[in-house]
Order: sequence, then C-alpha cells, then structure tokens
Amino acid sequence: MAAMRKGLVLLAAVAFASLLLSQARGAAQQPPAFDLMVRGGRIVDGTGNPSFSADVAIAGDVIVAIAPALQPGSARVIDARGQIVAPGFIDVHSHSEERQDKQDIVGNPAAENNIRQGVTTVFASPDGGGSVQVAAYLAKVDIARPAINVGTFIGHGSVRGAVIGQVNRVATDDELERMRSLVRQGMRDGAFGLSTGLFYVPGNYAPLDEVVELARVAGEFGGIHQSHMRDEAAGVVNSVRDTIAIGERGGLPTQVTHHKIIGKSNWGRSVDTLRLIDEARLRGVDATLDQYPYTASSTSIQGGLVPQWAQEGGRTRMLERFKDETSRQKILLEVSKAIETDRGGGDPANVVLAACPWDPTLAGKSLAQVLKDRRRPVAVDQAADLVAEIVEKGGCSAIYHAISEDDLVRIMKHPATMIASDASPGIPTFGKDVPHPRAYGTFARVLGVYVREKHALTLEDAVRKMSSFPASRMSLRDRGLLRPGMKADVVVFDAATIADRATFEKPHQYAEGVSAVIVNGHVTFAAGQMTGERGGRALRLN
Ligand SMILES: [Zn+2]
Repeated sequence: MAAMRKGLVLLAAVAFASLLLSQARGAAQQPPAFDLMVRGGRIVDGTGNPSFSADVAIAGDVIVAIAPALQPGSARVIDARGQIVAPGFIDVHSHSEERQDKQDIVGNPAAENNIRQGVTTVFASPDGGGSVQVAAYLAKVDIARPAINVGTFIGHGSVRGAVIGQVNRVATDDELERMRSLVRQGMRDGAFGLSTGLFYVPGNYAPLDEVVELARVAGEFGGIHQSHMRDEAAGVVNSVRDTIAIGERGGLPTQVTHHKIIGKSNWGRSVDTLRLIDEARLRGVDATLDQYPYTASSTSIQGGLVPQWAQEGGRTRMLERFKDETSRQKILLEVSKAIETDRGGGDPANVVLAACPWDPTLAGKSLAQVLKDRRRPVAVDQAADLVAEIVEKGGCSAIYHAISEDDLVRIMKHPATMIASDASPGIPTFGKDVPHPRAYGTFARVLGVYVREKHALTLEDAVRKMSSFPASRMSLRDRGLLRPGMKADVVVFDAATIADRATFEKPHQYAEGVSAVIVNGHVTFAAGQMTGERGGRALRLN
C-alpha cells in the first residue's frame, strides 16, 4: 500500500513538473496576450491584505495577470516603481445626477476632479434626489462617454415628489402603490438601490413606514438603501436607529451616508451611533456607513437652515410664509436655533457661502463677514435675517463648519465605514465659486492626512474602504479588486506624496500624487496629464 501511494505521489509530481515546464515553454513562445502592463509597483489589491510587489497585465478591459516579472513584449508599459498600484476608487455618494446647469457628468464627462484622485466609478442620485427616469439617465451617461463609470440610485424624494408633490402628508394607498411601481421600474432599469434624503423636502414628509415599504421593493431586486438621515445633529442617534430599522424591516442592506455629528453640543455621539451599528450587525442587520474626511458639510442655505415645514408647497408658498409677519418670526426663530445648535456651528462665522447665482461676489464669505461688510452687528438674530434675505433673493449654497475631528476619525476607523465624497464631476465647474473642497480632495485626503500623517488607517485598509468594500456594497462583482478577471480600473499613486490641495479658502486645486489612472483598460491619466481617453460606461445592477 505504502509503495503504491509513494508511486502515485511520484507520478503526480512528474505530471505537475511537466505541466510547469509546458507552461513556462508556452510563456516563452507565445506573444504577450495583453495590451497594457503596470510594472514594478506595490500592489494594494483592495482586500485590506498587506501589499506585495508584482506587475499587472491588462488585455482589453480586463486584468489578465498579476505576478512578478511579467514580460511586457509589445504591451504598453506604465512604470509604477516606487509607487502603489490599487483598484480604481469607488465613490458611492456622488452628485453626478443630471442638473439643469449641466454641472454634472453629462456636462463634464472628463471628470477631471475624480480622475486626478484615482476615482474610476461613482454612484449618482444620493440623498433621495436625481431623476426617476433611470433608463433615460443611464442612456444619457452612455452617450456622453464619460471618463469614469457611473451607476445610480433611485431617489425616494424624487419618487415622492413625482407622485405626491412637495406636500407634508401621509401617502394614500394608491399613491404608495404608484411610488412602489416607480421604484420597481427604476430598479428594473438598473438602479443599485433606493437613496433617501429624509432631511430634505419632500423626503422629510414621509413617515418611516413609507420608506420601509419602498426600500423593500429595492431589496427585492438586490439593491441597498442609503440614507441622508432625518437629523445629523441633536436627533442623530434616533436617525441612525431609523436607518437601521429601514434595513431590518425592509429586508435589505442599509447605509448611513456621509455620517457625521453636527453641532458642538452633539459632538461625541458617534460613540453611540457606532455602537448602534455594531449591535445591529451582531443581530444580522447589514448596516454600514460612508463618510467624507472633512469637518464641514455643504448644502443649500434653504435646505440647511430653513425649517422643512416652511418649505412645504414649493418656493412660492415658502416666500408667502416669509412675507407673513407671524410665520416669518417663527421661521427666524428656528433659523437662529439651527445656527446656534445645528449646522450653523454656533457662530455666523461658521456658515460660509459657496455660490450665490444672484450675487457671485458673496462666494467665499461667511454670514459674519457679510454682516460686517454691511456694518451690521455680528449676532445670531442678524444672521437669521440675512438667511431670510438670501433665500428670498434666490438662495445660495453654503459650507457649514460644525463637525469635530474626533468624531470624524472615530467614524473613519470603524470597519463598516467606507469613503465617499458627496461631490460631483463638474460640481464645481473648475475655478467657479468657492465650493466644498471634497470634490477635489476626498480620496487623496484620506491617503495623505489620515493614512500618512495621522496613522488613523493603514494604507491597505484605506484602499479597502475606497475599493472592494464599496464594490461589494453595490454588488459590483467585477470591480474593486486587483485580480485576474476583474475589470481593469487601476490607480497608480505615490504613498509618500499623495495629498489633497483643495482647501476651504482655495478649493479649485486638484489632488497630487496620482501618476496614472486606467478605466476599463483605457489609460485616462498618465505622467501627470489627462490623456483625453474616456473609457467609462453606465453601470446597471439588473
Ligand atoms: Zn446628503
């Protein structure tokens, strides 16, 4: 028996050796079966595992080999010596949905702010927004031939707006059924899930049960639920409970998007919100988070500071309330409160106007600065008056400095947190206004500040949070990892120099340290230059 076993082992060994030999001979004889090679870098493959040295070979739009010392033959070679080679980054909260002003992916298909920080895939229509016509949107994306891949959510706020309007009431059975069918159609047309913006009008008017019912439909198609929660300030803990409940009761994965704790008196509550996420995960709820690495948020003055009840019925109705003295006083009181304890960060200096179409000179000025310029006292009630005036004149977008670094780092380190920008290709238009720097810096900032400088994350874990984790979250089975068979979305960067350059004062500065970006096998960025290639495509879940 023993001899026979030994013989079999020997036979197997001979067979294996000859297989190796024939493979080696084949490799020597055959021309390279690939078009592109990223040579000599350290591979951070997206899994979170330690890096290793290897070459990456690409044929068409697919990675075909990852091994040391591959022979390039006639393939184009990108030299990655001394650099990191990682999967292209995936941004699950991108405002790439269609906009009337064309500051979107269709109007800005080169997506240079994304490419220059290594982002190769984005998901549009977060916060409950975007078009309910998912098929039409994705068709426009394909026609625009973007440089990056674009998927989309279907937005609950848009669905509710289409069926019920901007009205604060519960849906009838018939309306709920029509909302269900819009979500169903969106998912059939390729949406990756349902986004909600329960902070915003009209999503704010929906009771939790309605959201659960619509999330359930998205879940039936394999989609997730992602929420800009009802309250990110005093009510943040309850809002995280709601987000978990939507996943638990709706039977689908659920995600708190751009998780943050707003307002000084609420700082530290990320301890509680993260504990809720851990407890939910322990009992089997698939609850996760995403985050951008800044201590300021950005949204419109109206959306950020004006109470939702005052916005009911649309702009005309809202302006009527501003004119009526009783309701104006009530609004101003709530605006003051929002400046004191919520997004306003306790000080009119913490609200900085980003863009005001009716007066571009206001961009970059805080509410405090505008008051000073007008020789008015810098006080919260004065700032509330100014907010009313801004809204009446047509509104502005703004940046709100009201988040603590401690909460930011605590949330970032949580294993269920991924990175997402909340920005967009084309928002901002390069050089225009003074927008939030996250559009230019999010991913590079995590790698520069939170990996290299603060050691809050390892490089491998940070890349995981930007690649395989968001990919698996969105059921993108062929992206987010450097593996043979995966789509060839690749970023090459220098771990020693990668950095965000965009600041709140001077946001229009591209990230540095990325040397090459490949999207679906197309070299989109090389030697510090955009190549003009646009190899992205619309992505569909179903
Ligand atoms: Zn949001």
